[in-house]
Amino acid sequence: MKDIKEQEKQSHKNCCQAQSPINIVLKNVREDKTLKAPVFNYEKSKIEITNDKGTFLFNVNGNNSITVNDKEYPLIQFHYHALSEHTLDDKHAMLELHFVHQYSETDYVVIGAIYKEGAENAFLKKYLEKIPVNQSSYSPNELVDLFEMLPKNKNYYNYQGSLTTPPYSEAVNWFLLEEPIEATKSQLEQFAKILNNNFRSLQDLNGREIKFVREQEHFKA
Ligand SMILES: [Zn+2]
Repeated sequence: MKDIKEQEKQSHKNCCQAQSPINIVLKNVREDKTLKAPVFNYEKSKIEITNDKGTFLFNVNGNNSITVNDKEYPLIQFHYHALSEHTLDDKHAMLELHFVHQYSETDYVVIGAIYKEGAENAFLKKYLEKIPVNQSSYSPNELVDLFEMLPKNKNYYNYQGSLTTPPYSEAVNWFLLEEPIEATKSQLEQFAKILNNNFRSLQDLNGREIKFVREQEHFKA
């Protein structure tokens, strides 16, 4: 935890006009009809959950990508933060999911989703107990349907920002899903305990615009 704080300080010396996370003020969000929502090219995949000194990554092996602006961004990994990193009208959610897609060192798309208390979450039900808290990794045998993890409705808040962990590269096209994912209170509390406050503090907006992007027609059943 100390290392992250120190690296964060270092990285702030020379930069930082477009950092993440941010607070999203809902009344300032404008719909942009010229923007196309991301297209998911996901398949059932092998995952490996790794533990690097308390940082848990869900590495993905498979042919998964997202298409944004006619460019295909491979999915590298996903992970969670508790509390949420982004806030909506100054409110944190208990948990936030990040699907990290990387085209190059300077070009990422992250799909984010926050959680709300509600129905039992099927993915957490399967894997929460399996998170390798006392080992370096855990690889389930079965394939995981990653697309199933996301909410049905795929409208987004979109803005240009950064990675929220070192090296904090200002290279991320952020798409935060408007609809939260549901999980029970006890699932959220149990996961928050494991994640141990691994959220970065809010960063200045510095005049950046937050746009609202509607899902494309072909997503509607
Ligand atoms: Zn993250």
